[in-house]
Amino acid sequence: METFRAQVVVVGAGPVGLFAAYILAIQGIEAIVLEKETEGQTDMRASTFHASTLSYLNQIGLASSLIALGLKAPVFQYRIRSNDEILAFDLGELSDILKYPFRLQCEQHKFSKMLANKLFSENSSEIFFDCSVKSVKQTADSVSVYAETPGGSKKFVGDYLIGADGAGSVIRNGLGLKFPGFTYEEKFLTLSTTFDLNETFEDLAFVNYVSDPNDWFVLLKAPSAWRVLVPVEQSLADEEILSDAFTDSVFEAITGLNIPINTNHRTIYQVHQRVVESMHRNRIVLAGDAAHLNNPLGGFGMNGGLHDAWNVSWKLKSIIKDGKNPQELLSLYDRQRRAVMGEFVQSQTIRNKKMIEESGNDKEKSEWTNMRVIHADPNARHEFMFRQCMAKSLMDEKEIK
Ligand SMILES: Cc1cc2nc3c(=O)[nH]c(=O)nc-3n(C[C@H](O)[C@H](O)[C@H](O)COP(=O)(O)OP(=O)(O)OC[C@H]3O[C@@H](n4cnc5c(N)ncnc54)[C@H](O)[C@@H]3O)c2cc1C
Repeated sequence: METFRAQVVVVGAGPVGLFAAYILAIQGIEAIVLEKETEGQTDMRASTFHASTLSYLNQIGLASSLIALGLKAPVFQYRIRSNDEILAFDLGELSDILKYPFRLQCEQHKFSKMLANKLFSENSSEIFFDCSVKSVKQTADSVSVYAETPGGSKKFVGDYLIGADGAGSVIRNGLGLKFPGFTYEEKFLTLSTTFDLNETFEDLAFVNYVSDPNDWFVLLKAPSAWRVLVPVEQSLADEEILSDAFTDSVFEAITGLNIPINTNHRTIYQVHQRVVESMHRNRIVLAGDAAHLNNPLGGFGMNGGLHDAWNVSWKLKSIIKDGKNPQELLSLYDRQRRAVMGEFVQSQTIRNKKMIEESGNDKEKSEWTNMRVIHADPNARHEFMFRQCMAKSLMDEKEIK
């Protein structure tokens, strides 16, 4: 069987796998990336890059190129659908402590493409598309994966392996790791349109979470389109949800306009809240969606995955280049990242989902009641924003030894 070798094998050319491979490549560490698709993803998925992620990108010279591709969104807002009450949070208030006091709205696939192009020009790395990993094995000295390609089966051997192969991770399953948590009953539908939603809403920001017990929605501006996210009943067939009649009814419910509205993308996906039991087994680590899943309210999924990639790639550099103890560092990676993704991100996204399903008029204490108190108090508001841009979680993870 044809066999390829590298210091690190990365499975998955999503944003997380590519980011990890790029950090390794610029340290002169050989990294091979294996991707089952014939090219990088181009559909609409995550579109928010938080200030914390931009600071990391800045440290390796990538921030300004990405910022040039996106839109700066200093303000994110929570709205109540029935009465248009708005709580607007302005990250500009944190400009003394954040280098990038905004969310960057930019399509995930643009970031992945930028990284893939950079990797092509790095001698120490290579991306294999159309290369579907089927199984993984490790010994005391190395890790091997076996992949199907159009040219037949191939074996890839590395000193270490990063499983960044997304929600259905073959690597996670191959290691027999449990992935506890739950799956939401409803499906999520995302639509993107070039129709200008500012025509039908007043005071829209680039990031808007609109609460309603039945018909909540999220409106996000990306450079190429407005993105709309709504929940849809599990019992509806995907074919029906993706029909013009259905998407027009979604836009009519949101905008009040009874006209056909064009869409560039229509994507349905099932949303989970899960964290793997361990992100590390000897010479193998998991990163990104392979290790943790959460709902998209807050934009923590891809950002959290990029933070995993950052954390583990620098640890691999210390192991490979500086001779540091692999088991100590990789188990520290597991503790640090599982703490952040398991505690802050899981609880915050579950609360965000609860809040977006409220009417805002609840008599009892509710997420909205709590958010009004936070919004009114400058210290609480600043602390909240510092958490929402994931800057606090990066500080917290460094405290874990
Ligand atoms: C349909 C969909 C819509 C989404 N929408 C949003 C959204 O609106 N907002 C939001 O915040 N987040 C969204 N997400 C989540 C967000 O896209 C992820 O958090 C992010 O992509 C995680 O990056 P990743 O690199 O870990 O995984 P992925 O982006 O899933 O990348 C994994 C890569 O591994 C490859 N792969 C998988 N198995 C193998 C194998 N056996 N061999 C080789 N390659 C393999 C895949 O083809 C893929 O390219 C969405 C996810 C999906 C699936």
